[in-house]
Amino acid sequence: MKPAPDRQRGVVYVAPRLVVAAGTIFSPGAVAVADGSVLLAGPKADVLRAAPAGFPRMEFPGAAIVPGLVNAHTHLQIPRFSDSGGKPLPIPLSFVDWILRVIAWKRGAAPASFAENFRAAAAEALSFGTTTVGEIAGPDLSSYDGCPLRARVFVEGIGFAPHVASEVLALVSAAIDRLEKISVENPLVLAGVSPHTLYTVGESLLRSLADLAAAKGLPACLHLAESSLETGFLAHGGGEIASRLYPSVGKDVSWFRGLGRTIPAYLAEAGLLRKGVLLVHTVHLARPEIDALRGGGACFVLCPRSNAAHGNGAPDVTHFVDAKIPFALGTDSLGSVPDLSPWEEMRAARSLYKGRKKDAVLCRELFRAATEHGAAALGLPGGILAPGEPADFTILDDPGGDGDRFFRDLVEKTDRANVRLTVVAGQSAHGAAA
Ligand SMILES: [Zn+2]
Repeated sequence: MKPAPDRQRGVVYVAPRLVVAAGTIFSPGAVAVADGSVLLAGPKADVLRAAPAGFPRMEFPGAAIVPGLVNAHTHLQIPRFSDSGGKPLPIPLSFVDWILRVIAWKRGAAPASFAENFRAAAAEALSFGTTTVGEIAGPDLSSYDGCPLRARVFVEGIGFAPHVASEVLALVSAAIDRLEKISVENPLVLAGVSPHTLYTVGESLLRSLADLAAAKGLPACLHLAESSLETGFLAHGGGEIASRLYPSVGKDVSWFRGLGRTIPAYLAEAGLLRKGVLLVHTVHLARPEIDALRGGGACFVLCPRSNAAHGNGAPDVTHFVDAKIPFALGTDSLGSVPDLSPWEEMRAARSLYKGRKKDAVLCRELFRAATEHGAAALGLPGGILAPGEPADFTILDDPGGDGDRFFRDLVEKTDRANVRLTVVAGQSAHGAAA
């Protein structure tokens, strides 16, 4: 075993199967990589003929080369929660108790632990073949200096009362400046803006954050319609968010009587219904609302395992697939799900589909969600293997099957143990080259 060549040198990766995109497979296939990017990707014979002389060849018998997976929504600084004896804590039955747990953790955790959590979670993500993440920034921005994943790091703003808006906006702006400096040294990392949710970000802060994202040309990410508590509060005010969540942190939102318009109308007025806006969860929305959000240009990230873990219901995978609404998949944090496996997320989404598409076709679309659509939603390159795209890919045990049945077998059978090598920007980030 020897490490993969560094990203400066050219190299050709060869395997019995190459997936360049969710619909296009070459058997056998090869990818020529130079300077961190894909130079050539296609049938083995064509790539070997066209590759520059002197590129070493690396063969992976029994393997498939596929685009790196995109985990489009996660919080890598949030750990698995455990009690003082290290025993995992069950997820609270009440979603408000869950939010309070996260608030208490953020306030009480040892400062060094955020970076430790991040390093461990990033390594775990890579071990599943993930090359790219949509990350909600944790408290320790310096963690992103050495981020080994391609990442859109969204800086979160939280503040419901109108008088806190300017102060929160200043903090978010400063954090984005910091991330933009990090990007200069680590070009895998790019900044984004995240108004946390519509029940934790008031109208004036929401508009300010939307304006900031637009002015800087950055994508914006919003948790939306994750729980029925949320949609109830947004419709009328009140409920546990007003009676328990806010009082627990010493705040009063009893004055809030609801948005007074539909969620799509509210987002449009705030400047958050456009291309470059990612809506995460979108469980408690009616199909016409999803269609209106899509019509406005928004993208969607579904996190079915997290929703199930919190008893928050399930995203309408059937509608997204059958209406051909592009969506991405995210695991959410290790506080909500047992691992950072996009494979498990694809399987969870597969189990929710109730439409008429053949299973193999569905699996192909779920793979597309976890690659191409994820990268597009985050405004990042990759998700496919084509000349000029970053050399972000994973090499895994070929599950067998032909055509769409390959995708069914891939989604059904693949897990961490099948991932041999994860390559980000041409550099081996997990596993060892053959
Ligand atoms: Zn989240």
